[in-house]
Amino acid sequence: MPESYDEKHEYRNMAASDNETPMTTSGYPQKITHKKSNKKPVRQQKFLTKTRKKATKKFARVLLVIGVIVVIVFSGWVAVSLAAKPQTEPEPELDEPDDSVGEVLPEIPVSPLREEDGVTYLKIEEYEMILVNKEYSVPSDYGSGITEEAQQAFDSLKNAAAEDGYSIYVGSDYRSYETQKSIYNNKVAQRGEEEASRWSAKPGHSEHQLGLAFDVYGADYSHYLEQSFDTTPEFAWLKEHAAEYGFIIRYPKDKEWATGYGYEPWHIRYVGIEIAGIISKSGLCVEEYANLV
Ligand SMILES: [Zn+2]
Repeated sequence: MPESYDEKHEYRNMAASDNETPMTTSGYPQKITHKKSNKKPVRQQKFLTKTRKKATKKFARVLLVIGVIVVIVFSGWVAVSLAAKPQTEPEPELDEPDDSVGEVLPEIPVSPLREEDGVTYLKIEEYEMILVNKEYSVPSDYGSGITEEAQQAFDSLKNAAAEDGYSIYVGSDYRSYETQKSIYNNKVAQRGEEEASRWSAKPGHSEHQLGLAFDVYGADYSHYLEQSFDTTPEFAWLKEHAAEYGFIIRYPKDKEWATGYGYEPWHIRYVGIEIAGIISKSGLCVEEYANLV
């Protein structure tokens, strides 16, 4: 549309200016000038159309080049974004389990178990302790009393508590396989097997048979073998200092899911100063170290 309009417009102008000259020279120039003027505009028109066509072609070429560049750039961007997607997309999927695992696993070192003469040893870092729980037991003839090492450690603990003004008493320490058997059977008779096993170990599965465990109480005997023992000042002292003498509170609060036993603030187990330090600092229980849960 604009092309033909321009052509018509220019042609009209040219025809007008051509007509003017002959009109001034002769009085009757119309036919001749018209003939003359007819030739010139056609040539010029052709020339103009040619240049215009050339310009249009050039313009089209430029447009084509720009178009090609745009297409190349756009397809390049699409290719890059497509290539980038598969790299970024799986990342969060991989990150998620990594994060959740990363928070838990480094805190629980792999602690190998070793068995010798029917006794299972749990290695925590470079130290070992005898492992006895619902799963692992000792032979019926194992143990003969509180071990010398455990007794000495307990005496030190008791003396240190006394120096701080607290009296710690022992309600129960070593128990033979036979003693444990009668205790367990009595509990089952009283409360049924399920409830009995929450609080009392089956014979061969008791830490008391190891000669390394003490059930203790303080000035107020009414808290003996009661969870309320954890409200006493003696327990507060034990919680803070027991590890310094090699003892851990073996069945901690909120760890029944791991130990299989209810919370027993009165039951302390000798494991040695090193392991007691590691466990009390970590807040983990023995079964968590043994990867038994
Ligand atoms: Zn006990």
